[in-house]
Amino acid sequence: MTPATRLRRIALATRLRRIALATRLRRIALATRLRRIALATRLRRIALAALACAGCRSGAEERPGAASTGGAPPPADQPAPAPLPALDGTPNSFYAAGTPTFVLGTAAGERADREIAAQVALASSLFPGAATALDTSIDPAGGPAAWPARPVLYGGPHAHALLAALAPSLPFEMTRGRLVIGGQTFDGDDIRLIAAVPARAGDQAGPGYPAFLLYAGTGDPGVVEINAVRHGGDPILVADTFGPLATGRWHRGERGVTAVLSPLKPRIEWRAVERRLEARGGDRAAAVQIRFPAQLPAAASEDQVVDAALKGLSTAVRRLELAEVAPLSIYVYPDRRSKQSLTGDAGDGHAVPAARAVHVIATGDTAAADLEGLIAHEGTHVLAHAGWGPAGSPLLGEGLAVWVSGRYGGAPLSAWRGKIGAPPPLASLLGPGFRRLPEQEAYPVAGLLVDAAIARAGIAAVRDHLLAATPETWDAACKRAGLSSAELEADLARGASR
Ligand SMILES: [Zn+2]
Repeated sequence: MTPATRLRRIALATRLRRIALATRLRRIALATRLRRIALATRLRRIALAALACAGCRSGAEERPGAASTGGAPPPADQPAPAPLPALDGTPNSFYAAGTPTFVLGTAAGERADREIAAQVALASSLFPGAATALDTSIDPAGGPAAWPARPVLYGGPHAHALLAALAPSLPFEMTRGRLVIGGQTFDGDDIRLIAAVPARAGDQAGPGYPAFLLYAGTGDPGVVEINAVRHGGDPILVADTFGPLATGRWHRGERGVTAVLSPLKPRIEWRAVERRLEARGGDRAAAVQIRFPAQLPAAASEDQVVDAALKGLSTAVRRLELAEVAPLSIYVYPDRRSKQSLTGDAGDGHAVPAARAVHVIATGDTAAADLEGLIAHEGTHVLAHAGWGPAGSPLLGEGLAVWVSGRYGGAPLSAWRGKIGAPPPLASLLGPGFRRLPEQEAYPVAGLLVDAAIARAGIAAVRDHLLAATPETWDAACKRAGLSSAELEADLARGASR
């Protein structure tokens, strides 16, 4: 081999090695990028699952997260070339495509504003970098260009100025007390709609709009605890007092885009036993309906169940020092299977504050003290919500309910001291960290925190300042309550360890 040939071979080998290296680097880069996309998708799914699980879970049952649609999302810079907007978007695919912007309805008054803000604060804490905007900041006449990226609207048309302006061209009708969608009419103020509404081009019926996610209800403002409705995998979900009532998809036909709903989930007749629930001072009372399936004969234990319900609710009124109480309903299921099939929630109990309803299982074997404690807990979610307004964090919402009942998991709250280990930092507990803890740790910790706050500053301070505080407003709320967050955290650590 001549020196020249040898040099050429070496040069060629070096070049081939470089090409191989470059190819390998590209592959690694691509693999890293794919892993990042998969991770981002997974994180968003986890966030959505957490959002869907943000409701109360008093039972030991684990709720599965929101259904997944499968597959990585298309990169955001390559829009689908389809001539017509896609109809198959879901909350899962919507959140997977990028950071949302939450658009709050402000058209239904101060109390409604607080309800909407509370749900948006909980949802947006799961999406770092998510922005918020008010309904009035977007001019519907400007068409899709006037909207922020990936808008998520909270509030029905009666509570949301932007939706109200678009009402004639929306593929459903919602007013206070009524939803018309997919050829069905749902009456009542407990109806909630969670939908991925497809984009629409402007025409004589109204201006166009981009695809958006909608959390809305027929109540006032209709989105109370709406995040807790399990959702994600369906373009359309309708829920009532009991839970998911129908799912659906969008269809494009001669009359434009309309909804096609699944058959409605079964609902049964209920027989009510009515009692009066006295407010503090005894001069104002509200009706409590304790409801049993009408198709079943009254169980031998029915009187004890009614007694336990009244005692549990009376405990809530007394400990919360409520001068006024809201009327409410308690639905009593004879077994876990019937509660699961009718509400989609197999836990021992759960509350639906939007419908002022509590759902509990009471079998013949349920101990009266456990049922009373369960109803005190779930009743607190409804009564405190109606009387005091929304909780700004699950930590305070659950903490108040555990503190009122004085029990968790069949044991007095005091019995949990020394059994739950050192609580995580308050900053984490106030945010999504709370739902990441096992419930048998999170709930007693929350109860002990409320116990410590009341010991230091009294129940009025919790009611007026701490309950509504978000992670961002917590320190200021503590100051207004005459508390130091650091002292409270130290109290909690001591209370949990002794
Ligand atoms: Zn709860």
